[in-house]
Amino acid sequence: MFLSKKSIWVAAAITALGITTSMPALSQSSGVLNLYSARHYQTDEALYADFTKQTGIKINRIEADDNALFERLRSEGKDSPADVILMVDAARLWRAEVEGLFQPVQSKILDSRIPKNLRSNDEGKGSHWFGFSTRARIIVFNKSTVQANDVDTYEKLADPINKGKVCTRSGSHPYMLSLIGAMYERSGEAKTEAWAKAMVSNMARTPKGGDTDQIKGVASGECGVALTNSYYLARLMRSTKPQDQAIVSKISWLWPNQASSGTHMNVAGGAVAKNAPNKIAAVKFLEYLASDAAQRYFADGNNEWPAVKSVKTNNPALNQWGSFKEETISISAIGKNQIYAQKILDRVSYK
Ligand code: FE
Repeated sequence: MFLSKKSIWVAAAITALGITTSMPALSQSSGVLNLYSARHYQTDEALYADFTKQTGIKINRIEADDNALFERLRSEGKDSPADVILMVDAARLWRAEVEGLFQPVQSKILDSRIPKNLRSNDEGKGSHWFGFSTRARIIVFNKSTVQANDVDTYEKLADPINKGKVCTRSGSHPYMLSLIGAMYERSGEAKTEAWAKAMVSNMARTPKGGDTDQIKGVASGECGVALTNSYYLARLMRSTKPQDQAIVSKISWLWPNQASSGTHMNVAGGAVAKNAPNKIAAVKFLEYLASDAAQRYFADGNNEWPAVKSVKTNNPALNQWGSFKEETISISAIGKNQIYAQKILDRVSYK
C-alpha cells in the first residue's frame, strides 16, 4: 500500500519534473502574437511555422485585404488585439501611420538590415514601418503595335505618340498614387499635373480593373501599353496555364526610366500595432522577417525581391529578368505625396 502510494508520488514527481523541465518551452509557447496580414501566400505558412519553432511564440492570424484590415483596426481602436500588421504599398503604410495605427520601433537589427529608403523615418524615434520586400512598377506593351523606345519612361506614356494606347488601373489606387507621388517628388507639381492631364487624353479606355487586367488588355490589343507591378507579370510568366502563356506570348515589357530616375519601387511592409498587447513578440517577429531565411520566403512568396540586399532568392522569373536601375526616393516621402497626387488626379479628371 505504502509502496504503491510512494510510487504514485514518484510518478507525480517525475511528471512534475517533466513539467518543470518543459516549463521554459511552455511559458514561451504561451507567448502569442496576433498578426493582421494583407498577405496570403503558401510560403507564409513555412515562414510562420519557422518563427514559432525558433521562438516558441504562436501566431494567430487574421488575414484580410488591406482595406478590410484598415476598417477592422479603426473599429477596434485601442482595444485592438493586433500586434503586427502587414500591408502592401507605401501609400497604405503611410496612411496607416498618420492614422495612428502603428507605433515606432527602435531596433538595431531592423535599422542595419532594412535600407533607410525602405522604411519610415522619425528622427531618433525609430521607424513606424519597415519594407520587407520590394516590387517594381513596370511597363508592358503590345509586341506588334508598340515600339519599346516609345514607352521606355513613365513620362513617355503621356507623349502624343501614345494617344489612344494607354491603360492603367484607377489613378486613386495606392499603386498609382505612389507612382505619381514619386514623380511629384522628383519633378514637382506643375510637371506632374501636365503629365497626368496628358495621360488622361492618351487613354485607350477609362481606367478599370487590377494590374493583371491591364496586362490582359495589352495582350488582347485593347491597350497598346500599360503599367503593372512586377509580380503580376512574374506570376503569369511562371504559370503553366495555356491561357496565361498565351497572354505572355503577345506582350513585351521593360524597366522604365533606366536612363534617368530608375524604375519606381515599392514595398510590402510590416509594423507594430499602436496598442500591441505583445510588443516584445511583435518586434521579435519584425526582426525575424529581416533574417536571411525569412527574407527569402517573404519575397519569393509573391515573386518579389528581398528588402535586405545581400539576400538572394532563386526565382526563375526574377532570375531571367536580371538587374536594373531602381528609383531611390524614400518611400516614406512617396507615401506622403499621395495627398498631392490625389489632388492632381481630381483636377485633371483622372478616374
Ligand atoms: Fe498587388
